[in-house]
Amino acid sequence: MKHLPIVISGPSGVGKGTLVSRLLEEDDTLTKSVSCTTRRPREGEENGKNYFFITEREFRSRIEENDFLEYDEHFGSFYGTPRSFVERLLKEKSVIMEIDVVGGLNAKRLLPETLLIMIAPPSLEELKSRLAGRGSEGDEALALRLRRARYELEQSPLYDYVVVNDDLERALEELRGIIRRECERSSEQEAES
Ligand code: ADP
Ligand code: 5GP
Repeated sequence: MKHLPIVISGPSGVGKGTLVSRLLEEDDTLTKSVSCTTRRPREGEENGKNYFFITEREFRSRIEENDFLEYDEHFGSFYGTPRSFVERLLKEKSVIMEIDVVGGLNAKRLLPETLLIMIAPPSLEELKSRLAGRGSEGDEALALRLRRARYELEQSPLYDYVVVNDDLERALEELRGIIRRECERSSEQEAES
């Protein structure tokens, strides 16, 4: 089966992390890219697992070295996808990148076979309650994330698929189906060419 780069985007708190960790648990043809960020780790986050937590100075020097497939700034911190890391992983598996919309569109420009999947909340109210329930942000950071959420969701038409994370198990089933079909389709296309 062909390995695809897969971007999973969606507003902070929509359930991307939850969905992606379930996908990875069940499917050993999938792996996940680990982004670099200059933001501080949240409680329970591990370096090299959730993110590579690096300094702004190191981030800037890696930009200079063209070491990011894409990068962006959110909420005052930098976030970027390490290029060589993703290319290495793609030799073995399909690689999920959990990144924002601007990053996803930039990644697709460099790797055109990239599958773009947007995770949407059932409503903005539900998103707010999930974000508040996670308890990882203060009021200001929460308000910023909600404002950004509207922008992210408006970009949905530029994506290949939109999956509404209403019921977790239903959304997972839809995601699995999309990924399976797209990997099969790419394998067939490759065999024909
Ligand atoms: P993201 O990675 O997109 O920021 P998370 O995976 O951290 O979001 O999820 C945010 C919160 O919403 C978590 O507390 C998570 O348990 C919860 N959550 C995720 N999916 C659902 C769902 N389908 N229904 C209800 N709560 C959910
Ligand atoms: P958080 O701080 O909640 O983990 O992430 C904040 C935002 O940064 C989310 O919208 C997330 O998708 C985005 N993000 C995480 N990693 C990357 C990355 O490597 N590149 C880009 N462009 N955005 C990222």
